[in-house]
Amino acid sequence: MTLHQNLIAGEWVGGDGVANINPSDTNDVIGEYARASAEDAKAAIAAAKAAFPGWSRSGILERHAILRKTADEILARKDELGRLLSREEGKTLAEGIGETVRAGQIFDFFAGEALRLAGEVIPSVRPNIGVEITREPVGVVGIITPWNFPIAIPAWKIAPALCYGNTIVFKPAELVPGCSWAIVDILVRAGLPKGVLNLVMGKGSVVGQAMLDSPDIQAITFTGSTGTGKRVALASVEHNRKYQLEMGGKNPFVVLDDADLGVAVEAAVNSAFFSTGQRCTASSRVIVTEGIHDRFVQAMGERMKGLVIDDALKAGTHIGPVVDQSQLKQDTDYIAIGKQEGAKLAFGGELLKRDTPGFYLQPALFTEATNQMRISQEEIFGPVASVIRVKDYDEALSVANDTPFGLSSGIATTSLKHATHFKRNAEAGMVMVNLPTAGVDFHVPFGGRKGSSHGSREQGRYAAEFYTTVKTAYTLA
Ligand code: NDP
Repeated sequence: MTLHQNLIAGEWVGGDGVANINPSDTNDVIGEYARASAEDAKAAIAAAKAAFPGWSRSGILERHAILRKTADEILARKDELGRLLSREEGKTLAEGIGETVRAGQIFDFFAGEALRLAGEVIPSVRPNIGVEITREPVGVVGIITPWNFPIAIPAWKIAPALCYGNTIVFKPAELVPGCSWAIVDILVRAGLPKGVLNLVMGKGSVVGQAMLDSPDIQAITFTGSTGTGKRVALASVEHNRKYQLEMGGKNPFVVLDDADLGVAVEAAVNSAFFSTGQRCTASSRVIVTEGIHDRFVQAMGERMKGLVIDDALKAGTHIGPVVDQSQLKQDTDYIAIGKQEGAKLAFGGELLKRDTPGFYLQPALFTEATNQMRISQEEIFGPVASVIRVKDYDEALSVANDTPFGLSSGIATTSLKHATHFKRNAEAGMVMVNLPTAGVDFHVPFGGRKGSSHGSREQGRYAAEFYTTVKTAYTLA
């Protein structure tokens, strides 16, 4: 079996491989991927540091061309890479291909941004002095990514980091190294100079920790759990480095009496269960006003009966397996907790057997849940959602905002008044009206507030905030 190695200082290195397993069929080994040590991480950081002076002064046309070529290759190989993604992570083939296209579009966007780098020239308040405001790269950027978007998240961090002239040490989640390795391979062949991008696959507690502990990383961008995010924050404060965190969510989806029932059910099913509920923007709290509650729950049940849960690569599958045994245990533990707390398991929640051994779980919907229950407060990160019954819009908004998280928030309503009020008052970084809480564009800011995020926004032109530092220069005429 081919060993996929780490990339350090432009060389593919490392011998000790870890098997990448398909969650739809645990007998299917996708490949062997090298496991980096803390020493490898240090070598990668040193390589990125050495490459920084050259890359930070590279021409914008060179950056544009490399990002553009990468975008073109990702898009040309979307079916193959999308298949790899679905095979290693377990989202359906349509979702895998969609995410791959998204990654290509992100590289394309930042290829364009490389040609649009600009500053400002403004007059000083003092006579005969000019002021220039420019953006410079930050330095060595550490990129740490989770398993649930194996190609899109690496793309939305790597592309802007390179566009704005930074060098990179990149650590993907150990569970899904395949897409990350593929992106790095494409970038290298697109002409990236040695040391500009270094890949260190391996354990977070070893490789990630070595990155957090290094004084030579000037910025860390992290997506993952709240617990690890806090470690990134504390270590970054210690080294006085810039950091950006995208962490969990407990996103509410409000359904009002005046909602279009079909729109509400479709958006709720998508938000709660698509991508196996393993999205930080997934909605696991469906907050429903009492006039539509019973009709909504019944329609949800009907819709859920039609969902096909099977091998991610099979045609006709709507929902693939859970990513691994440990996440599956977390999901079933929360289903048990929900029952103990007194919520009613209205639909699903059973482990399923399919043709191949995999981590199959029937999506679960609780009713009669309250917002105080653990299933309503803690992130489950699986296909498990609960319906919380409320009196009216005011109570719905108050319950929606009663959470430590604040990533995405959705509402189903035909009332312009309520939609407008909700957009203004939802305590979240992203608000969706008659749309699922998940599913965002690549050219606009992404991120949350409260316990979900820290630092400036990712994606679109707002990404420049994190990947650059501003310089103000004064010149006497
Ligand atoms: P983790 O926090 O466990 O892992 C995220 C990354 O951090 C992985 O690459 C992991 O490595 C690494 N890591 C683990 N320990 C350390 C450490 N001590 N130092 C440095 N790095 C470390 O999250 P998951 O990958 O399990 O992802 C699921 C979680 O991420 C969910 O809670 C979800 O809500 C959140 N998430 C948030 C998103 C957002 O945008 N808000 C998007 C996607 C996910 P390894 O796993 O290889 O050991």
